Amino acid sequence: MNAQEYMEEADKHLLHTYNRYKIVLEKGDGVYLYDINGKKYLDMAAGIAVFAFGYNNKEYNDALKSQIDKLIHTSNLYYNVPATEAASKLTKAAGMDRVFFTNSGAEAIEGAIKLARKYAFNKDGSNDHEIIAMNHSFHGRTMGALSVTGNPKYQEAFKPMIGNVRFADFNDLDSVKSLVNEKTCAIIFEAVQGEGGIYPATNEFMDGVKKICEENDILLILDEIQCGMGRTGTMFAYQQYGIEPDIVTSAKALGCGVPVGAFMAKEKVASAMVPGDHGSTYGGNPFVTAAVNKVFDMFESMNILENVNTVSEYLSEELDKLVADYDIITAHRGKGFMQGLVVTTPVNDIVVKALEKGLIVISAGKDVLRFVPPLIISKENVDEMIEILRSILDDIS
Ligand SMILES: *Cc1c(COP(=O)(O)O)cnc(C)c1O
Repeated sequence: MNAQEYMEEADKHLLHTYNRYKIVLEKGDGVYLYDINGKKYLDMAAGIAVFAFGYNNKEYNDALKSQIDKLIHTSNLYYNVPATEAASKLTKAAGMDRVFFTNSGAEAIEGAIKLARKYAFNKDGSNDHEIIAMNHSFHGRTMGALSVTGNPKYQEAFKPMIGNVRFADFNDLDSVKSLVNEKTCAIIFEAVQGEGGIYPATNEFMDGVKKICEENDILLILDEIQCGMGRTGTMFAYQQYGIEPDIVTSAKALGCGVPVGAFMAKEKVASAMVPGDHGSTYGGNPFVTAAVNKVFDMFESMNILENVNTVSEYLSEELDKLVADYDIITAHRGKGFMQGLVVTTPVNDIVVKALEKGLIVISAGKDVLRFVPPLIISKENVDEMIEILRSILDDIS
């Protein structure tokens, strides 16, 4: 079959929940992807902030292959070696005490919500606790995760949502304060809002919410699914704010391509969950946790954070220049390798033109061009991207 035929066949049988771009990807190598016609693309999206080390990394692939030959799955009724090691490495990196491995980001959010509710239930025995979430947030598409996602368009046709969720404005401390009451059990937000348009939390907001949580014994849940795992220059974004959340969620780059997520907590909170409270057949199986282990090893051996910090500074400067040079780009926001440009033309037009020119970038919200590249990109890769972007912007302007 040729590309056109594959796309027609896929459109016949896949549930139509995505408007896919008209390319059929076949393989990847480093920061480049190739479609089935052999066309090469510079990838500045990393499978939506997933492939931290780029594609076809031999060390990573070999670790997965050797785990496949040993043991892929056992269920959580027994102990296994990779999950044990992954739990140690992840909790240490996050400064948390315990972790539950999930199969996706949305499931990590589900678990975080259940843990927060159970913790509150244990305190006062009531079951009408409230959660405060943020407008323009994104936490996933399952019913619980959707219920704390501040995007009415995603929720409307699927109501009723889970109850007792209230929405505040991100980076607006007063709007959070006005919703806090004796029933509030948790406040959830992304340290850097991703899908909502690349908005980092301000120091003031992070400190302020933390203080509200401490004063009222409310749990702070930070969703680090997109901004965590080194993307902003520290293993987790909150580590730049000098605060510690009570519950943290992770996924996306956690396994760098295998389906794995996690929610973590400090002992005081984690101990609210007891046998029978939560479970998952696959969750954290030996195959995916072998990947998690390898990911943590490679962060160290490849000095990933150092690359993020040096190259993202360069990326940031180059993006600033685009704001200065083109009227259709009005702002630049971000942290580390999580950057966004606000554009006044339909952002999808830029995404499509970029694909034609061999560059993969994605959007966030309706007017933000999002850059969440593999964490290994070099300054040369940035130059290559900027050159393509400039040629597109020249055309459009
Ligand atoms: C992607 C994402 C999720 C959902 O993760 P899935 O693996 O798609 O379920 C949740 N929160 C944030 C911040 C995300 O970026």
